[in-house]
Order: sequence, then C-alpha cells, then structure tokens
Amino acid sequence: LLARLKDPELLTAKGYIGGKWVSEAASGKTFEVTDPATGAVLAELPDLGVEETTRAIDAAYETQKEWAAKTAKERSVAMRKWNDLLLANADDLALILTAEMGKPLAEAKGEIAYGASFIEWFAEEAKRVYGDTIPGHQADKRIVVLKQPVGVVGAITPWNFPNAMITRKVAPAIAVGCTVISKPAEQTPLSAIAIAVLAERAGIPGGVFNVIIGTDGPAIGKELCGNDKVRKITFTGSTEVGRILMRQSADQIKKVSLELGGNAPFIVFDDADVDAAVEGAMISKYRNAGQTCVCANRLYVQAGVYDEFAEKLAKKVSESLKVGSGFEDGVTTGPLIDEQGLEKVKDHIEDALSKGARVVTGGKPDERGGTFFQPTVLTQVTSEMKVAREETFGPVAPLFRFETVDEVIAQANDTEFGLASYFYARDLSRVWKVAEALEYGMVGVNTGLISTEVAPFGGVKQSGLGREGSKYGVDDFLEIKYMCLGGI
Ligand code: ADP
Repeated sequence: LLARLKDPELLTAKGYIGGKWVSEAASGKTFEVTDPATGAVLAELPDLGVEETTRAIDAAYETQKEWAAKTAKERSVAMRKWNDLLLANADDLALILTAEMGKPLAEAKGEIAYGASFIEWFAEEAKRVYGDTIPGHQADKRIVVLKQPVGVVGAITPWNFPNAMITRKVAPAIAVGCTVISKPAEQTPLSAIAIAVLAERAGIPGGVFNVIIGTDGPAIGKELCGNDKVRKITFTGSTEVGRILMRQSADQIKKVSLELGGNAPFIVFDDADVDAAVEGAMISKYRNAGQTCVCANRLYVQAGVYDEFAEKLAKKVSESLKVGSGFEDGVTTGPLIDEQGLEKVKDHIEDALSKGARVVTGGKPDERGGTFFQPTVLTQVTSEMKVAREETFGPVAPLFRFETVDEVIAQANDTEFGLASYFYARDLSRVWKVAEALEYGMVGVNTGLISTEVAPFGGVKQSGLGREGSKYGVDDFLEIKYMCLGGI
C-alpha cells in the first residue's frame, strides 16, 4: 500500500492528541489493521485506551474556549483549506480507505468527495449561525437569543464510511466552535488518522480535533460519556450501542445525537417506471456491498409488476455486478467487512429459504472465499422471515409481494426503525400520501440515492436522534442562550 501512495505520510500509525502524535499506548498494547479482501496486515497501531482518552478530553477542553473565540471566518478559512487538502489527496485517501475497508476504489473516491463536502458545507455555515431578537414582553425589556457551541464533543463512528462519517460530525462541531475527540472504528482507523494529518497541515490548531484509535470501544465510550468535560456525544453505529451510550450519558444529562440502524423499505408500485426502479434498487441495495444504514433492506413490489421487476433486477444483478477486491478494475462489490458480517448474511438467507423463499440469483458465498458474497435476489419472501425484521447489511435483495397501498404502508412501518425509505410511483396523489405516511426520517421518491451534505440526514423511532448535514446540522452542536435585558 505504501508504495502506491503519492504521499506516504498519509499512512500514519499513530493517535493524535492535543496536536501531538502518539505512537505508543500507555498500556504498551498494539493492534493490527487488516485488508478485508486479503487478510494482509496493513499497519500496527498503538491500542489507545482510557488514559489517552482522558488526555484527549483535557486537550480538547483546554483548547475549546480559544477556538470558539476565533471569528467564524477564521474557523471557516482553516476548514476550507482542510477541505481542499482532502480533495487534493483524494487518490491516496481512497487507496487507504479501500485497503482497510474493502469498498471498490471508485466508491472510495466518491466517499472522499462526499466526506470533504461536509467540511466545505459547514465551513460556509460557520458564518451563518444567526441568533434572534424577540419583541420584549414588558416595556422596559429587550430579548436576545444567542447560539453558542455546546463545548467538547465525543464522536464515535463505524467502519462502513471511514471518512465521511467522521467529517459529517467533526465539521459542524468545529465550525461552530466545539472541539472533538474522534473514536473511529477499530477496523478502519487509518482513514481517520489521514484526515487528522491533513487537519494539522490545514492549520487547525492542536486540540481541536483529536483521534483516539483503539480496540476497547466500550471503555473509551464510557470515559467519553462519564467525563464531565465532554458535553455531547455524537454516534453512528448500531442501535444496541446507541442505547448504551444514551444510558451512559443520562447521569450527566449529556446531549446525544445518534445515527443508528435502519430497515429501509423500498416500494415499487404498479404505476412505477420499472426500469428506473431496478436502477434505483441497484444503487440503494448493492452499494458498498449492502453495508450502509440506508441500504434498501426490504423490497416490496406490487403484484402487477412483481414478476417483471424480479426478472429485470436478477438479470441486472447477475450481469452487471462483479465481486472482487476493491483494487481490481470493474469490481462493484467488495468483501464484507468481517466473518461476523458474512455469517449474518448466510443466516438470513438460510432462514428465508427454510420458510419458503427462492433464490433467483446468487445466494452463496463467492468462490473467492474469504468474506466475499454473491449479490443475491430472493423472491417469495414473507414477513415471517428474519430479512423482514433485521438489517441484513449485505448484498441480498428480498422481494415481498403486496396488493394494496394500505397493506404496504402498514408493513413498511412495522419496524422499530425509521431511517431511510424509498418508493417508486408516478401518480401524484399517491406520491404525496405515501411520502407522508412512511414513518421515516428520509424518503427517496423515484430515486435510490438520497445522501448529500445539503440535506438533513437522520432517523425517527429507534433509528436515532438529531440530523447531520444541511442547515440543520449545526443545531446539534449549539446551545440556545436567551438574554433578557431589563431596565431599559
Ligand atoms: P458496527 O456493527 O457497525 O460495528 P457498532 O455499533 O458495534 O457498529 O460500532 C460502531 C462504533 O462504536 C465503533 O467505533 C465501535 O468501536 C464503537 N463501540 C462499540 N461498542 C461500544 C460501546 N459499548 N461504547 C462505545 N463505543 C462502542
């Protein structure tokens, strides 16, 4: 990997605390990062833990007031430079990302651009954190509303978007004057470190953005939640861990933002453009080998177009998807992140088949072995199967048949999750009614791709709290202060 990088310094195996690079853990322990496509060891890193987390919190705490005291424009200028550096180094950052995470190189490059876009966006938004003046309630009073940074933020992120999940949290936080301790997933710390290398080069002061790399997520998380210098926890990952973090944050009434699991329905109505729906399903279902929290998890197809949709989707999947290492030309589907991910996919398919589902294409681990899995389409799927209730997080499209609008809305909403949803229809009245009835934070209508820095990303129900991206994305990192001026 090193030999392929234009700038080998981007592949650094160190933590970053208070502007200093940390090459040794207090515990003396190390851990390895491996390539999921080959199992090859990419780097050996210091396994930072609670002690380093406390140090990072202290550094972030000491820096925060100074950082917040800068003008919004000053923070914005540094962030703009950071954005430019990410884009200028996109090729190297994508190589590192593909190596540690497995997604195809073209998708990794797309992620770097997507990740940088949050820095650009929030560098712009930094200058627009407006307050309010409110007409006074008594003749001698005036009312002013200020928005101020919440303070030190702990940001815990998963492996499926090793770059963008970090920038999406860190950019709005530091734009408004917070400082951050970032805890990337243990599978993909190298991308996080590379972002920090570029933050340092962009002139973001030490202590503003700290990176704790380590394998003991629960202990690091506990310190972030339990240390009263940290005022906010922002997390993307499983609902299970989200619950733990929310519970641990309760003692200090810490603010929390959570982007948790999804169980996205993808509905195709009789009046849909079926070819467009197939295209949308390809993107929504198979991107990142099905490992995104907004991936279509359940595909509901109305009876009138069910057979046509199933046939066209299966044809497209078997003809256009290519499984392999993310570094190979033309590969669309990399390995699953690990053995556990593979087992879940196998289990979901076995369960569905035992209850009457049929495999139209795929259905098995790929002949390459490892954690590669064949892109799969299942038909005759019913709500009794695991695929209806749990997030599969793999390249498996289960097709459910439905008859009426009311029936499919009830089924789509019959889940504790509420992140992304999608549907294809052309009748205008149906489009409005279905969009309003879906209990989800996001609805893609006639599209399978909804993520962008300009729109509010987030879920309802047990999919989370708060929104990331867009003008709303800064709210989660701001406190409202009301000033009542009397005696005027
Ligand atoms: P995934 O299934 O995507 O790995 P997780 O929710 O397990 O999702 O992990 C997401 C992030 O949360 C990772 O950075 C992981 O290290 C971290 N994590 C896991 N368990 C805990 C915990 N108990 N407290 C804090 N962070 C945790």
